[in-house]
Amino acid sequence: MGARILVVEDEEAISQLLAYNLEREGFRVDIARDGEEGLVAVAETRPDLLLLDWMLPKVSGVELCRQLRARGETREIPIIMLTARGEEEDRIRGLDIGADDYVTKPFSMSELVARIRAVLRRTAPALAGDVATFADIVLDRQACRVRRGKRDVHLGPTEFRLLDVLMQRPGRVFSREQLLDRVWGHDVYVEVRTVDVHIGRLRKALNTAGDRDPIRTVRSSGYALDETYPD
Ligand code: CA
Repeated sequence: MGARILVVEDEEAISQLLAYNLEREGFRVDIARDGEEGLVAVAETRPDLLLLDWMLPKVSGVELCRQLRARGETREIPIIMLTARGEEEDRIRGLDIGADDYVTKPFSMSELVARIRAVLRRTAPALAGDVATFADIVLDRQACRVRRGKRDVHLGPTEFRLLDVLMQRPGRVFSREQLLDRVWGHDVYVEVRTVDVHIGRLRKALNTAGDRDPIRTVRSSGYALDETYPD
């Protein structure tokens, strides 16, 4: 399972966007809408990492960060602060509040995910999510490498991403539309049958020399990694 991330953010549009994208990356996400809720949620969900907005109602992000750092049981939780550009950014740099990293709004999702993985790599390497495994297949996101058994599997970027999505939820059937959304993005127009073409390429690269096909085609539904694999 991926790392559990608590998002403390009062702007719902941002917290929903974060939850959607981080879940796509294989993280588990909980949301708190202000500092007070955040404190309760930290105790309840025991997150592996906190994404903490600087400007929050009730208890500010800075205050919450200080409180967590002052308590033995929460002192070690990694915290990434979200700040607005400009004055806040300058002020937060001048304060030693004990955050592990700062990300300035507006941020790109890929940059934020990279920062999250970097912080987790230091604090909880097993949870950084750099490496996914399924049976004899190992996918290394950081090195952009896939191995099957002892063999390197050479994939194009689309096939790599497709395998990554399937490996996040072995056994789950993804429809072609869901795969389009997750691999190509939801505002890109690509024909549904394009998915079949890339699944075909992925299979060809993965399965050589009589390897069993780990991808299951579910008639009229989509594709899944075969949860009965290997026998
Ligand atoms: Ca805010």
